[in-house]
Amino acid sequence: MKIQTKAVHAGDRKRPQQQIPVSTPVHFAASWICADQAEQDRIFAHEQHGYAYSRYANPTNDALEELVAALENGHGALACSSGMMALQHALTAALLERPRRVLCARDIYGATLKLLYDVMGPFGLRTELVDANDTAAVEAAMDRSRPGALLVETISNPLLRVADLAALARLCRTRNIALIVDNTFATPLLARPMELGAHLVVHSSTKYLGGHGDTLGGLIVSDEAHYETIRRFSRVAGPVMGPMEAYLTMRGIKTFPLRMERQCRNAAALAAWLRKHPKVERVFYPDDPAHPDAAVIRRILPEGLYGGMVSFEVKGAGREQIFGFLDRLRLCVRATSLGDVHTMVLYPWIASHRDVPPEQKAAMGLRENLVRFSVGIEAVEDIMADIEQALGG
Ligand SMILES: *Cc1c(COP(=O)(O)O)cnc(C)c1O
Repeated sequence: MKIQTKAVHAGDRKRPQQQIPVSTPVHFAASWICADQAEQDRIFAHEQHGYAYSRYANPTNDALEELVAALENGHGALACSSGMMALQHALTAALLERPRRVLCARDIYGATLKLLYDVMGPFGLRTELVDANDTAAVEAAMDRSRPGALLVETISNPLLRVADLAALARLCRTRNIALIVDNTFATPLLARPMELGAHLVVHSSTKYLGGHGDTLGGLIVSDEAHYETIRRFSRVAGPVMGPMEAYLTMRGIKTFPLRMERQCRNAAALAAWLRKHPKVERVFYPDDPAHPDAAVIRRILPEGLYGGMVSFEVKGAGREQIFGFLDRLRLCVRATSLGDVHTMVLYPWIASHRDVPPEQKAAMGLRENLVRFSVGIEAVEDIMADIEQALGG
């Protein structure tokens, strides 16, 4: 055999071994060889589960999808290249046989609004915003504008409002409206929206599920009714996650409950400490008995698990004072993301909520002196010490 031929054939394409590796290998194959043409024919006809081309299915992705569907108690899942891709794909599948109108929580991730208005709007999607924490307002909006889908986050950003998913699901189910829940902040440790009646759950696995700040990804968890459409569209549109990202995400999820428990504990301790701090005006954390959604929180979130996000207002601070405070932080990482093992901080006023019109910020209750911390798994005393020295300066 000549070197040119060896370069593309030698050592490769061995038959799978009988021993099973303890972790799922990264299958970097774009396509698969079948035993014979008859087998390939059965795979293409969906009469047999198997692999032909990675846009359709890949064993590494399959393993992650099975894992996340199990965590959320869904029928099946699809791993996507990002959380935004997962949201777009979920919306497309949900609206296939429904009116192209979305009722969306006003308090939602900024890019989600841009997806609805700037990307899907020109293709005929109409979006109406609603206060998703006001169930009566949601019901009135549904009966007025008859949407095809309701899109909400379990825990919102950055003011950490908690949606009454069970009540919203009841409203959706009597009207054939698809309930799509972005469960990124809550994670399946705190809430499993499918169990409360959601049709589709979406995650940015870039955040808590991955947990290490090294992998962009998204997941859609689906009920049985929408799953076939999600897979059928995916085989054509190809929103899929790469196998390396699927591997890293799966590896991250192994320790996700451990990390999340620790993050919740650290966040609760930090919130309690901040409430007593003389330089802090208001603290937003769902363990607060005076939280506007306290009754919903008691029903939806497990005792003691209120998430790893803490937002607070610095007394009398404007933009310059907030810049100074954040620039003095030495341990907490100033970067756009959340859910990582290390503590991260973001200034919503100039970042996530930069493009939100002032009157909408006012309606949400978002002020210029608010910072948002994603609490990590460090020793909480070290996080407090860093915030203390930065506030003191
Ligand atoms: C980050 C995030 C997204 C988008 O996910 P990407 O992985 O960045 O595409 C969607 N929803 C929420 C709540 C997020 O925090």
